[in-house]
Amino acid sequence: MAEHSGEFRGYLAGVGESVQVIIHVEDRRICSVRYEPQAKAGEGDSRIWILPAVWDIQTNGRWGISFSDSNLTVQQVIQIVRAQPSLGTTRILPTLITASRESFLHGVRTIAEACDSDPMVNSMVAGIHLEGPAISDVDGYRGAHPAEHVRDWKFSDFRELQEASGNRIKLVTLAPERPGSEEFIRSVTSEGVVVSIGHTNASDLQIQNAVVAGARLSTHLGNGIAMQLPRHPNQIWIQAAEDRLCASLICDGHHLSNDVIKVLARAKGPERLILVSDHSPLAGMPVGLYGEWAVDPAGKIVVSGTPYLAGSNQNLTDGLSKLMDATGWDFEAVSATVTSNPGRLLGMPLPFLNIGDFWEASIWSVNEVHGSRSIKVLETWIQGEMFEVG
Ligand SMILES: [Zn+2]
Repeated sequence: MAEHSGEFRGYLAGVGESVQVIIHVEDRRICSVRYEPQAKAGEGDSRIWILPAVWDIQTNGRWGISFSDSNLTVQQVIQIVRAQPSLGTTRILPTLITASRESFLHGVRTIAEACDSDPMVNSMVAGIHLEGPAISDVDGYRGAHPAEHVRDWKFSDFRELQEASGNRIKLVTLAPERPGSEEFIRSVTSEGVVVSIGHTNASDLQIQNAVVAGARLSTHLGNGIAMQLPRHPNQIWIQAAEDRLCASLICDGHHLSNDVIKVLARAKGPERLILVSDHSPLAGMPVGLYGEWAVDPAGKIVVSGTPYLAGSNQNLTDGLSKLMDATGWDFEAVSATVTSNPGRLLGMPLPFLNIGDFWEASIWSVNEVHGSRSIKVLETWIQGEMFEVG
């Protein structure tokens, strides 16, 4: 059993300015918070950062287990969710990709059951992300989603799923060109669900109409799209230029090149960018062939025999480092993409170091020596409980 008391010191991420804090924790709860002036020059190369909550709003599974599996078990959900703190993540949206109505129902019910049976899992699962089923059925745009289950949304189906999930569905990714999208977006956003645009072959007008109806995010912008596009207009430019849309990006070194990351990050700015792992169900698995998918020697996860990626194998720490490389932004700026930005998008602000609250934070070290950087998770605390970092 880990110590539940102690003193924690570091720079606070997600508040928009570098500020050092000293936090005292007793019996799992915050009992004092002291803010210190900025560190003296010269101390910037090696810093301890305190991230009040680290979000991953798109993660499909791990170790060969998919949240979309029609045989998903409660134990598997608990296992994957409880593995997140060792990656530095404290809040996740388990993500179900396009599947049959029965599979969706089974998935959200199983996740709800896992939350109901384990308070720690319940505090880490901030919601469920449904990526599909109303996405483009055109190859390329569809990505690794199974064609046979792509279909339009029926609001009654959504209601059934939302009920089965215990109102946990917080994010839905859809393609606005599907019939009935605008009405669906209006209906679910009025219930507090965030709608994201993704895996889409929509026109400029269809994207604009989706935004007017309430869509607020682009899912893994630059991916889930055909290999070849008209130079302009195309869905990437249109969404990059739309200021009402935040964008999530996958920065694993395979999904997007550094120049694309730089351009999209600058188009959105540090306040509207969200880094996601998009962990594939094969994340954490050795190189090999797994049914229709494979982990290749470069660590890339692909639909076998195609150029299409099937999620990533990277952790958010690597993603943040790659985002820093591509944009030239400092850690303070990129950390917002996993702390304050996703929290704001979902209407769930960061826990804010209130006296008496459970101690929850991810503590990371960021070292930059002679141009080489390492970002490491040191400790993760949830509900005053420390998780081992492996
Ligand atoms: Zn996707």
